[in-house]
Amino acid sequence: MAELDAATQLLGIIGDPVAHSLSPKLHNFLLRRAGLNYCYLAFRVRRERLKGALEGMRGLEVRGLNVTAPYKEQVVPYLDGLAAEAQALGVVNTILNARGRLIGYNTDPSGFGESLKAQGLNPAGWNVVILGAGGGAAAVAYALIETKVARITFYNRTPARAAALARRLAKPDASTITARGLTDGKIEDDIAHAKLLVNATPVGTFPSDETVIEPGLLHDGLTVYDLVYNPPKTRLLREGEARGAKTINGLEMLIYQGLRSLEIWSGLEFDQDIVPELRTHLRERVCHG
Ligand code: NAP
Repeated sequence: MAELDAATQLLGIIGDPVAHSLSPKLHNFLLRRAGLNYCYLAFRVRRERLKGALEGMRGLEVRGLNVTAPYKEQVVPYLDGLAAEAQALGVVNTILNARGRLIGYNTDPSGFGESLKAQGLNPAGWNVVILGAGGGAAAVAYALIETKVARITFYNRTPARAAALARRLAKPDASTITARGLTDGKIEDDIAHAKLLVNATPVGTFPSDETVIEPGLLHDGLTVYDLVYNPPKTRLLREGEARGAKTINGLEMLIYQGLRSLEIWSGLEFDQDIVPELRTHLRERVCHG
């Protein structure tokens, strides 16, 4: 990050709460490394001020914002356009101010896909089980459909929400998508035949040490990916490791979605060589585990 001056452009994140967010650390690290004259701040925005915050983004010519819970869907009506993935999912995590036009993107699918690639994994043809059916699950599924997985099965506490997401994502000649309730007895068989299991629920986030599924269902043919990144080793990941599964922590997706957002705002492409140093920088700042 260059020294702040009258030419400094503003980036940031809006949500409520945002005090826990790693995004300011992530982006300010990248901005410093790239010598870009931007500054990234976290803004706690109250629900009743959301519209005003986005008007302020136009008024102050803020270059870009990330959007976190609970506003990823709620910002959509205030934007002027949506990129394809944001349109398909109805969920925005990145806003670009393009000369006064606010364009919504969702960099989570690309973040998830790039993180798999970086681990040398190509899920084409795989059976996948996703725990959860919220925004994170939708983004993961979108990325997996793009890479042509064979089958995605959502298991969600609220089965109707999983069914609605499956309908939203279904395309002819694409991956088969099924939705079930978390207590559905078929989970054992589905995980036995899966190569990838993704936890897209917040279960396991510090300080809880819970998990959504029985450890006996995990096996050494699985990659277990937990979108939760605090603690670095959730109970699900520890239990997966104990049964010989490959495990991936949510920090990986966070890093790659952040890189993509910064590329959208700055127009620059970042060299992937920055990732190990960024990962170490962020790991030191994840509070627990
Ligand atoms: P969301 O839209 O609110 O969805 C939450 C999902 O988790 C829903 O399917 C919900 O089920 C389920 N859930 C919540 N509490 C549960 C519980 N106690 N038992 C079982 N299921 C439960 O949230 P999201 O945006 O998808 O985020 C989900 C998690 O992924 C969060 O921890 C978030 O931080 C993480 N995430 C990480 C990244 C990353 O870059 N690493 C990116 C996106 C999300 P119901 O439908 O029944 O409520």
